[in-house]
Amino acid sequence: MRIVVLAGGIGGARFLRGLKRAAPDAEITVIGNTGDDIHLFGLKVCPDLDTVMYTLGGGINEEQGWGREDESFTVKEELAAYGVGPEWFGLGDRDFATHIVRTQMLGAGYPLSAVTEALCARWRPGVRLLPMSDDRIETHVAIETDDGEQRAVHFQEYWVKLRAAVDAKAVVPVGAEQAKPAPGVLEAIAEADLILFPPSNPVVSVGTILAVPGIREAVASAAAPVVGLSPIVGDAPVRGMADKVLAAVGVEATAAAVAAHYGAGLLDGWLVDTVDAGTVADVETAGIRCRAVPLMMTDLDTTAAMAREALTLAEEVRAADTDADTSEGGAGA
Ligand code: GDP
Ligand code: CA
Repeated sequence: MRIVVLAGGIGGARFLRGLKRAAPDAEITVIGNTGDDIHLFGLKVCPDLDTVMYTLGGGINEEQGWGREDESFTVKEELAAYGVGPEWFGLGDRDFATHIVRTQMLGAGYPLSAVTEALCARWRPGVRLLPMSDDRIETHVAIETDDGEQRAVHFQEYWVKLRAAVDAKAVVPVGAEQAKPAPGVLEAIAEADLILFPPSNPVVSVGTILAVPGIREAVASAAAPVVGLSPIVGDAPVRGMADKVLAAVGVEATAAAVAAHYGAGLLDGWLVDTVDAGTVADVETAGIRCRAVPLMMTDLDTTAAMAREALTLAEEVRAADTDADTSEGGAGA
């Protein structure tokens, strides 16, 4: 079975670990968000790609969910001693090496997709990890300053430095309109047996991937069922500040509103947490098959169980499609 997953960072990566356990024989292609990418100290940093690579490759800092385990910060301290920042972005010594290799390869003319493949040769994540695009895309967030003026900041500045403490007025994936999907992305979607939206941020992770021209259309027209898992549980993000960027696009922070935001044009199935069982009927009215199951990724077993629920829901969608096709055929004959 060929599974395509549109993934952000922590939510995507943790889910993927469960999916690998639940479907050990599947060929998994991950289309990773690169809208969070940032240039720091002359280096190209791809936080979401690295979170997936380190998590699946066994190098992640487990408690934090991002960055390397057993990390030290000597380079950062030395940079700070020169007065060179930003200090708000935590790049550790081990992590620096990844960004140095990446930047060196990009400088030598390799596209990001080839660089990611090279980095994965070390980490062996057990999935094919593709950036959504080889072109530069940077998510910017429009905020209002104290004097009432609008200012656009890089997503990382909004998220990490400002901790999303001010309201986001708009979220813009700068460069997306002119970008092309990376090699293999559209092919993987077209050839997939199943497409999954993990419990990643619907705006700045999955939404950014879908903003690359061609990707949304490919998912919407794919033969495979598309099943998503809600990152919102009990009307709040499980971790992080996803409610802030949902508000910027006019979407309530509820599992049902996120499903409606993706819409029946994209989603065939949607999983909500058992605490949100009351919204299942709403989602189904919107034309999306919905089930309430435990959606907290507390450990590998519970995460694998979530992935199994997604596979089961996909089977239901497939069976319903086949039934519909058969009855259509009968009616038409
Ligand atoms: P990021 O790029 O590191 O922010 O990671 P993602 O975009 O992949 O995922 C972030 C989302 O994951 C957040 O909106 C969280 O609400 C969601 N999330 C994190 N842990 C869990 C969990 O255990 N269960 C569910 N359902 N969602 C989670
Ligand atoms: Ca991210």
